[in-house]
Parts: sequence; C-alpha cells; structure tokens
Amino acid sequence: MTTSTMHEQFQVLLEENKDHNCAGLGKDHICVKIVAMAELPSRFGDFHIVAFENNRDGKEHVAITKGDVIGASDVPVRLHSECLTGDVIGSLRCDCRDQLEAALKMIGKMERGMVLYLRQEGRGIGLINKIRAYSLQDEGLDTVEANLALGFRDDERDYAVAAHMLMSLKIRSVRLITNNPKKIQQLTDYGIKVTDRIPHVMEPNDHNLFYLQTKAAKSGHLIDFSGKEHFKEQDDRPIVSGMSEEQAKVFNE
Ligand SMILES: [Zn+2]
Ligand SMILES: [Zn+2]
Repeated sequence: MTTSTMHEQFQVLLEENKDHNCAGLGKDHICVKIVAMAELPSRFGDFHIVAFENNRDGKEHVAITKGDVIGASDVPVRLHSECLTGDVIGSLRCDCRDQLEAALKMIGKMERGMVLYLRQEGRGIGLINKIRAYSLQDEGLDTVEANLALGFRDDERDYAVAAHMLMSLKIRSVRLITNNPKKIQQLTDYGIKVTDRIPHVMEPNDHNLFYLQTKAAKSGHLIDFSGKEHFKEQDDRPIVSGMSEEQAKVFNE
C-alpha cells in the first residue's frame, strides 16, 4: 500500500468520523473518533500516527500504525498505557519504556501492526496521583497499599477506549502482543475478535537484565536493590529473551 492511498483511506475515515457519536463502550460509555493522521518516521521504523478524540472526557489517544491496517484482519496490536515518567524520562521505577520500545521495534519490522497509546497514566489514576503514590511508596507502602491509601482500586485501567479505537480503524481481527491472557479476555468482552496472541519478548540489554536478576532473587515482582517494589504500570510483564520458561511463568503471576 502506497502512502498516498493510505492518506486517501484516512481521509475517508476522517470524513466518516466527523459526526461520530455512538452509545459508547464500557462502564463509562467511552466513544472516540479519529480527528487527525500523519506520517511518523521514527527510530523504530516508519509509522503513521492517528489521533483520536474522546468525546466523554476530552482525552487524546493515538494509534501508531505500521503498514496497511485499515480494514485488515489479524493485525498485530500492542496496548500501551501512558507513563510519562517511564516512557519519556526513562524512570527505573517501572519498565514501561522498555516495553514500549520493544513493541515499536517489533512492529516496525512487521508488514503491518500498531501500538495503541492509551492515556491512562499511572494505571488510570493520573500523573499527579501516581506521583503521590510514588511518594507513599518512598515512605514504605507497597504499590497496592499506596493506591488504596489514595482511594483508588489497585488497577483503574479499562480497555474500552482501545476496543473503540480498533473499531474506528475498522480492524477485523487482531493478534494481541501480550503475555497476559486477561487482556485478551477484556478486548473480547468489548467485541474485538482476537485470533492469536504474540508473546511480548524483549531483547536483554544492560537495562532489562535487571528483571532477570531481580527475578532470580525475588518472587516475580520488580523490586529495586533496596527492597522496594516498583509500581507496575503496564499490566503484563514482558518476557526478556533468554529468560527460562519457568522464570517467564512466575514473572507473569
Ligand atoms: Zn463511538
Ligand atoms: Zn511506567
């Protein structure tokens, strides 16, 4: 598919989305519409970026797409929840950036695929509350206790937005890039056809070798060397290439 026809396809979608307003998905009746698209060459490959507007809470979500995805079947898809501290600043309190980079690298080499970048910072509690939770963790609470102390459930994430984005792009079926079967269940419940699961495997580097080391020392959670558990923002742990099956299994429990 050439770029010009991609643009033409997006123009048609944009026109169709102009007045879109449906009953919405999930408990919050989320409805999104496509409002803009552009080419996005990146260090991980040549992508397009598609911007969605959420007509319920004004949040701006994006799909980073590779190749001809509109109306396609069996599209490899990675769901990534926004993490400013990890994705942008490279925080070591979480592994979000490693996961995002691994997904973009993987999809960048594929014929087609996409990352849905979901604006549900800090497991859905928002940036300020996430930093408040970090602060409580600094004082010794664990991640779950910190969230509960702030009045949130352990995990406020919801994939209704992701499901609607896939519908907006007329994706017929997806191959979900995840190590977490629960994510497949959630999307399926929202009416997305998931035909396959692609394991999310990261290549080891100086950085994520840390997972293997902590895994070897502790039981499945990301814990720094002073013994504090890190905030788990993405809901499935990546498998680091070279990790034994046993390690990977425990890692995802
Ligand atoms: Zn809608
Ligand atoms: Zn993070």
